[in-house]
Amino acid sequence: MFTHKRVTFFHFHVHPSLYIYKPYICTHTIKYILYIHLLHKMAISSHTISVLLFFFVFFVIICIEANQTLSQKTLRNDSEAIVRASNDYGNIVHEIPSSVLYPSSVNDIIDLVKSSNARSPPFTVAAKGRGHSVRGQAMTRGGVVVEMTSLGNSQNGSGISVCSDQGYADVGGDQLWVDVLRATLEQGLAPVSWTDYLYLSVGGTLSNAGISGQAFLHGPQINNVLELDVITGKGEFVTCSKNENPELFFGVLGGLGQFGIITRARIVLDKAPTRVKWVRLLYSDFGTLTKDQEHLISIEAPNYVEGFLVTNENTTNDWRSSFSSPSNQSDVVSSFKKNNGLLYAIELVKYYDNQTAQTIDQEFEKLLKELNFIPGFIFSTDVAFFDFLNRVGNLDNEKLPLTESHPWLNLFIPRSRISDFNSGVFTTIIPEFNEPFGLFIFYPLNRNKWDDRMSAVIPDEDVFYTLALLHTSGANEYQTIDKFNGQILEFCEKAGIEVKQYLPNYQSKQDWIKHYGSKWNIIQKRKAMFDPKMILSPGQRIFNSV
Ligand code: FAD
Repeated sequence: MFTHKRVTFFHFHVHPSLYIYKPYICTHTIKYILYIHLLHKMAISSHTISVLLFFFVFFVIICIEANQTLSQKTLRNDSEAIVRASNDYGNIVHEIPSSVLYPSSVNDIIDLVKSSNARSPPFTVAAKGRGHSVRGQAMTRGGVVVEMTSLGNSQNGSGISVCSDQGYADVGGDQLWVDVLRATLEQGLAPVSWTDYLYLSVGGTLSNAGISGQAFLHGPQINNVLELDVITGKGEFVTCSKNENPELFFGVLGGLGQFGIITRARIVLDKAPTRVKWVRLLYSDFGTLTKDQEHLISIEAPNYVEGFLVTNENTTNDWRSSFSSPSNQSDVVSSFKKNNGLLYAIELVKYYDNQTAQTIDQEFEKLLKELNFIPGFIFSTDVAFFDFLNRVGNLDNEKLPLTESHPWLNLFIPRSRISDFNSGVFTTIIPEFNEPFGLFIFYPLNRNKWDDRMSAVIPDEDVFYTLALLHTSGANEYQTIDKFNGQILEFCEKAGIEVKQYLPNYQSKQDWIKHYGSKWNIIQKRKAMFDPKMILSPGQRIFNSV
């Protein structure tokens, strides 16, 4: 655990109120001394000057008091704030900031970034949404963490404002997707692209991509944004879109927080369905699975296509398969054993509402007839649209210390090498590792639904697969799993499979250059344009060592 002594040591070096307010007080003081000097020169009586001097001193005292009240309210350096800001969902990396900003307005963040720019050297600033990164990406060592969700508690954030006639919602970067869903559903609308988990911040997911089973059809969440308000690394507040300041707009989308802090996003909405038909289909043959998955993402018929690996008996029981009945369960287990402890699944959904309720079953039947899952291994349910999107529920645990670590590895794999990946990873490395609690999500995406001007990186093929190895270990017992992740990356390297990491985590600049490939030049250019002092999101370790 972090000792109070260590925290105090950092505060001694970089006291937050000095960061923000010192430059303003200094400039004002110099300005007023010059005025007084001028008045003196103009031969105004010394009595008048004394009166003015009195008011000036009074004004400075009021200013300092006001600033202190503000800084004490919004900047915290108590151990609770520091410990929270040095933890994330991964529970692997812990960086200790000097202080934590709890902004009550966008201006608080602008002031912070500006005051960093005014200092030499500047201090780093890490926007933190929900801290659902797994490798310290929203942390900073010795800098200031901005708890974005604090904006949501004030009247001065962007909140959520639905513009139903225009088909969009203006949403604060601090807002959670689950709240966006609730607010838009009230007007019969909803965003079109999602994440599996909804308790994530809009700013945090738009800094990555935001993918789920709808992305094959609509692209990732970053592809469904019309406009952004951003505070750049220079402290400028800029509104941007495809046509207005496009370099910043495309830079920030999938930009890993490197070019600006998102304070508002205009999200595309569509008419919301009321219910969904939802099935899981089991496969024993990998070739048949991928053929069916690719068929499904090539047609516009489904609304959601995902898949996952069944690598142990627990997988058949967890939240992804909770609607299979107990009688099916024993069949699944015996088929699982027959297939050397590995089965694959497709998860398929079609939305409907009152108007389409009469035809949904027929349409679904037609879709299923085109697929080649193991006969009889189909598990279906029918739920409300909200319950489907919110199927994972709220996993967040506010209690510290965390009792688990999450050494996740997320990959994008080019379609042309997916069979080699299956032989080397799914049928060899994963069974050898025999992980009891892992959840492995696997499904294909269409490249043409991603705008290549965005900063996000994907393989250079029309279709690519996403694999999410969502591991859980005991707190601080992630090293064995990290070795396993390393084995997979090493296998890809040796086999020449050009995977890209999603939610990337690299240790060296060389690795980042390789990750960005032909985009590296544009990424460097954007950094120089929008955050030349390399202040923002140092926890990604792209331009900063920490
Ligand atoms: P944080 O971890 O707080 O921040 C992530 C990065 O973005 C940091 O570098 C931070 O500095 C920066 N940042 C934060 N806010 C802003 C802002 N307003 N402006 C600019 N930069 C900012 N991802 C998917 O795509 N699909 C999924 O289905 C999915 N499921 C998940 C399920 C769980 C249980 C978890 C823990 C994560 C999941 N993720 C998923 C990953 C998730 O999208 C990322 O971890 C995302 O960063 C989380 O958002 P956050 O608000 O917690 O971001």
